Amino acid sequence: MAKIRLFALANKLGLRTEALIKVLNDMGVENVSLASAVDPDTASAAVELLAEQAEEARRQAQAAAEAQAEQEETRTRTDDEPVLVEDEQEEEFAPPVHDADLKEGLAELERYLAELQAATEQERPAVPEVKPLSERAARPTGERPASAVDVPPVVTVLGHVDHGKTTLLDALRQTDVVSSESGGITQHIGASEVSINDHTIVFLDTPGHEAFTAMRARGAQVTDVAVLVVAADDGVMPQTVEAINHIRAAGVPMIVAINKIDVPNADPAAVQQQLLQHEIVPEELGGDTIVVPISALKREGLDELLEMILLVAETERLWADPKGEFIGVVIESSISPSEGPLATILIRNGTISVGDIMVCGASWGRIRRLRDWRGKSVKTMPPGHPVEVVGLSDIVEAGQIVELADSPREARNKAEQIRDAERERSLMGQAEVQLRQIQQQFGSEQVKELNIVLKSDVWGTAQAIEASLNKLAKQLDEIQINVVHSAVGEVTQSDVLLAAASEAIIIAFRVAVSNEARRAAQDEHVEIRNYYVIYDVLDDIRRAMLGMLEPIYEEQLIGQAEVLQTFDISRIGVIAGCRVTNGRMERGARIEVTRNGNQVFDGELSSLRRFENDVTAVEAPQECGIAAHDFNAWEPGDIIKAYQKVEVERPLSGEPAESSSP
Ligand code: GDP
Repeated sequence: MAKIRLFALANKLGLRTEALIKVLNDMGVENVSLASAVDPDTASAAVELLAEQAEEARRQAQAAAEAQAEQEETRTRTDDEPVLVEDEQEEEFAPPVHDADLKEGLAELERYLAELQAATEQERPAVPEVKPLSERAARPTGERPASAVDVPPVVTVLGHVDHGKTTLLDALRQTDVVSSESGGITQHIGASEVSINDHTIVFLDTPGHEAFTAMRARGAQVTDVAVLVVAADDGVMPQTVEAINHIRAAGVPMIVAINKIDVPNADPAAVQQQLLQHEIVPEELGGDTIVVPISALKREGLDELLEMILLVAETERLWADPKGEFIGVVIESSISPSEGPLATILIRNGTISVGDIMVCGASWGRIRRLRDWRGKSVKTMPPGHPVEVVGLSDIVEAGQIVELADSPREARNKAEQIRDAERERSLMGQAEVQLRQIQQQFGSEQVKELNIVLKSDVWGTAQAIEASLNKLAKQLDEIQINVVHSAVGEVTQSDVLLAAASEAIIIAFRVAVSNEARRAAQDEHVEIRNYYVIYDVLDDIRRAMLGMLEPIYEEQLIGQAEVLQTFDISRIGVIAGCRVTNGRMERGARIEVTRNGNQVFDGELSSLRRFENDVTAVEAPQECGIAAHDFNAWEPGDIIKAYQKVEVERPLSGEPAESSSP
């Protein structure tokens, strides 16, 4: 039957793993750690021993208490007497945990074993299918209906901090406001529209890959074209690289805007060269990435940038059906003191009007007001445009899907269903981890897994780390990396418990660890590793994974000996009396025996003696007695070559992964 992981067993029985490890050591089972697995018989024996120890400790404690009571009756207690007795006992008996009744533990163990058995026979229960948001947020596909209209491409601006993303967005907005007659912008809603040559482009106003990936992480991939801003005086920087990775991971076409070409030390050509290092080949250098030099500050090159965006976007004509089913994606949300929850949604399909009833996640409401991207109130909004809605019951999250309902009752039901589904999903998530843990025990012992709970300050980084880890795992194909949980925010106790349950390590990326979590981590022997730089995470994980791999051994010649004479010893067999001519002979080494250049034996050096003593090694030029189990036909003049396996450094099948690659 399958082995049981100590960790899972301890968890099941409500014991600390170290209690179990200690008792196993007492039983003579050495070299066990929380990740070790033992066979069910050993597990039963360990639990029984724990039960006995607990009983014994209880008995001793009782006896001590009685003795103490007796002593107290006769004389005044001094500080170091009975208390010490208790302390000593406690120390000796430290591992058997909190007061779990171990008899019950035994029964529990049996149930657990039965459960394990059942799990082998059972298929993993199917996780109820939840229609992926990514499908729902995607542009409509299939036959274009007659009622369909062309819709503007959606653009996100990404790049390193201070390279000019915000300035570019402001400049584009201003260009449009100045060139149109519709007046200024009264209020930012989180997206803007820019027109050029009778075409419109929608820009999402929150730049950076964090926002981009936060949406994507929820399955809402709304960007059609990504503009990567790189400052001409600063070049490709770490966040540029992250942005590149995010854009690639999303599979979104990219245009590079080399910004700040107006500054005296601008060097656009150098930037192009740097891009090459990240496998972005600009058109000018024979590739197919469009690169536009701009100055956001001086508003130079902006029209060309817009034209290029249209060019890239128009390779697919984007359409939506104003009469079709309504689908919107939240791109921003906030609370207004006077109007309550506000949400800016990008309309993917259908039309929205004041008075409609909308549902978004567990929130719903009748639309009281709609505003276009300039903050101007409108009655209705066709697909393809951003719109701010007033009337939701609650704040919603970027990336959530907005639908319409026919009646308040339907909206309420839908919202409730979604709330239930979310709750269920989070429970399912937990169940899945436990299941995986059990199944792992039955799985192939050959597959090494590294489970990770990832906590980071922003979604973007989490995504970047995950993507990079996956790449790293690919380089070491004997290893599987599972990010069992990834979230933004400090490391909490529940993260630690999840990590413990899934035998995961926790990566705390630029986040704090709560005190509770720290304590839990100590109790559960969960490793929390703090990082500030993605490269360091990868480097450490790479090392950890290499440690998980079976070492690679190479056989090396360690010495040579010549047989001088042979002795036939009745109990042992024939022993070759030899002289080590160079290097050394070692017990257990593989030996090759040759006679006149022909091999006569290949096997293990099973016995090595120096005078009357068994020894493990004999160095040149000493003499020694050598025997091999399966070989007695030694002859003087035979040459013995000894080989030993030595561990060699494992090569990586690719370059070490960096955050700089997708
Ligand atoms: P972000 O962090 O990428 O959003 O960068 P910002 O848009 O906030 O710009 C950072 C700084 O660079 C600001 O001081 C801008 O005025 C300046 N900047 C942005 N674009 C240009 C440009 O084209 N030329 C020059 N000279 N400065 C620029």
